[in-house]
Amino acid sequence: MLNTAFFIYFMIDTNRDKGLRQIMIEELRKKGIDNELVLSAMLTMPRHYFVSSSFYGRAYIDAALPINCGQTISQPFTVAKQTSLLDITPKQKILEIGTGSGYQAAILKTMGGYVYSIERHRVLYEQTKQLFANLSLNIACRLGDGYLGWTEFAPFDRILITCGAPEIPEKLLSQLKIGGILVAPIGEQEQIMTKVVRVSESEWETSLHGHCSFVPMLKNVNY
Ligand code: SAH
Repeated sequence: MLNTAFFIYFMIDTNRDKGLRQIMIEELRKKGIDNELVLSAMLTMPRHYFVSSSFYGRAYIDAALPINCGQTISQPFTVAKQTSLLDITPKQKILEIGTGSGYQAAILKTMGGYVYSIERHRVLYEQTKQLFANLSLNIACRLGDGYLGWTEFAPFDRILITCGAPEIPEKLLSQLKIGGILVAPIGEQEQIMTKVVRVSESEWETSLHGHCSFVPMLKNVNY
């Protein structure tokens, strides 16, 4: 009963929350984010729904915050930057690797995507799947290894990796449509934001978009 009361409390989007979101959006603009569709989705979707009650008060500062299983919800600037690089238009089929809190997937859904998201931690997978149901967000979730992608639903218009991958996973490149875009932080300790466009059956064009820091994309995972 107590849990339910807490749950309902944190699913409320107050005028104060909305105001803090507006300030967050202005901060993102100042930091160079100019994609209006991305900013509008981030203004609409309450970020405080995706953090635990102890971090509620910090949901609208531009920082990564801890979530379960030693993972993090990405910094709003990072979400805005990755989503801008993806160049999303409605009705695209989008694969996300690293569901985590679900916030990034919710932004992609708000922008009109058909979103498929893979998470390797069972606890996060179960919690976030339930959260999506509570928020009536129709996002397909899978407990599994992101390196393998999701062959049943491939090819995808867009693929987004939200954990630091040592190299671009080959299976994901092959699950990208021709003309499709993959965005991923690539590197071991620190990463470089990397955008890959599939230009033909056998050619991919890569561009680099600055340094970043993500939790690692783990290999040979048990779940
Ligand atoms: N998109 C998330 C970010 C979560 S952090 C959000 O908006 O909150 C990155 C996530 O990637 C973590 O939850 C981590 O468990 C997951 N992850 C790491 N390696 C993975 C792998 N090989 N396959 C699937 N998920 C993985």
